[in-house]
Amino acid sequence: SESMEQEGKEVLRRLVQAGYEAYFVGGCVRDKLIGKPLKDIDIATSALPETVLELFERTVPTGLAHGTVTVLMERHPFEVTTFRKESEYEQYRRPKEVEFISDLNEDLRRRDFTINAMALAEDGRIIDPFGGQRDLVGCLIRAVGDPLERFGEDALRMLRGIRFACEYGFGIEDDTWEALVDHAPLLVHVAMERVYAELTKMIAGSAPDRAIDLLAQSRLPDYFKESVGWPSLTRGDTDRAVWRLAELDDPELRWTGLLARLGLDASQAKQSLKRLTFPGKKSEHIVKLLQADEWMERSRWRETDGGEAGYDLIARAAVSFGKSIVRDWLTLAAWRYKAETGALAGEPHAAAFLSNASLWLERVPVERVQDLAIDGSELVRELDKPPGPWLGQLLGELLLLTAGRRLPNEREALAEQAKFIAKRDTY
Ligand code: ATP
Ligand code: MG
Repeated sequence: SESMEQEGKEVLRRLVQAGYEAYFVGGCVRDKLIGKPLKDIDIATSALPETVLELFERTVPTGLAHGTVTVLMERHPFEVTTFRKESEYEQYRRPKEVEFISDLNEDLRRRDFTINAMALAEDGRIIDPFGGQRDLVGCLIRAVGDPLERFGEDALRMLRGIRFACEYGFGIEDDTWEALVDHAPLLVHVAMERVYAELTKMIAGSAPDRAIDLLAQSRLPDYFKESVGWPSLTRGDTDRAVWRLAELDDPELRWTGLLARLGLDASQAKQSLKRLTFPGKKSEHIVKLLQADEWMERSRWRETDGGEAGYDLIARAAVSFGKSIVRDWLTLAAWRYKAETGALAGEPHAAAFLSNASLWLERVPVERVQDLAIDGSELVRELDKPPGPWLGQLLGELLLLTAGRRLPNEREALAEQAKFIAKRDTY
């Protein structure tokens, strides 16, 4: 935002007034030149971290060993990092140690791609020793210097290259692409957390389908440290038309769609997400959605017509998985159906089912036993029986009947039905 840029410039001015060099660097320079809104502003300076700590009132020593101090201005934080060189990379990963230097160009040289290796001074001057502006105009992702060497230093850069190409709709320069394909096996040295961070940005980003395509072509997923079990992708199945993830808005639905398209069932998907270090909550949601998908297929939803049977299936799904999961499943099923309309020509019920299902779902009056107008202790009293396993069973049956609208959600009616069931089943 405007105020972020103003405050960032104030940080530059103070450093320059104290006799140091200071610039905006990296992603924010790239995004500013493209005309994209800035997410954050990183600053590079010739001042040492202890000097930065002294020059500003509010600071956080975020990563002193790497030269980074967070400076808190009125409304925005800024990461201020001392010019540095990364000597000695440790086994194709991050540098083992950093060396502070006084030359901006050397600092830019350690960066991954030309479009990420530019600096912007307070007066608007752009420092661009590697042709970042040329590559922005030519829409190219190009490694700074020798791509083989750069990917050898930090193999994660290969995934970053694909991510930037997709995010900006850029091509990948020939030598950079060749090096990427060549060095793909080095990815085994990179922690899965870092792999996950890049992948999830690709999937949530502006061109997930192209990302999958480039991943397949480069075969990078073959060399993840942990096997994520995406056989059809690593087989080189690159028919882009089949993915269509961009048509789904929600990133978690995109992941679900991807895993389903890769042919993974719910338990395989769970394993795959675990290896990817996916956060637990998100992973649970995706796995539950795939379970619901399997359940719906087993229940033959495609052959269920638009009448009472359709409503009933949706009601049972709502009780089994919760309405919110069923809502997501409907989005997923409609998306898939749209891609498959030709293939589903022989299934006239499927379209009718999907077009009615959202309405049915909203009409389902209850989804959990807590929604029933009678609770366990009341049933114990009504039936005059000590609590036991029968209680859960009975509540489940009442829930199903109520959800299916065969029984109104009213206390009297529920008690009456409970007595009938108890007699029938002779609890
Ligand atoms: P994003 O929009 O994803 O934040 P970004 O370019 O700001 O893009 P960051 O990961 O925030 O990416 O990194 C900031 C800058 O640090 C990059 O622009 C790049 O110059 C440099 N950088 C980050 N990671 C690497 C890396 N693995 N190797 C070399 N340089 C890197
Ligand atoms: Mg950034």
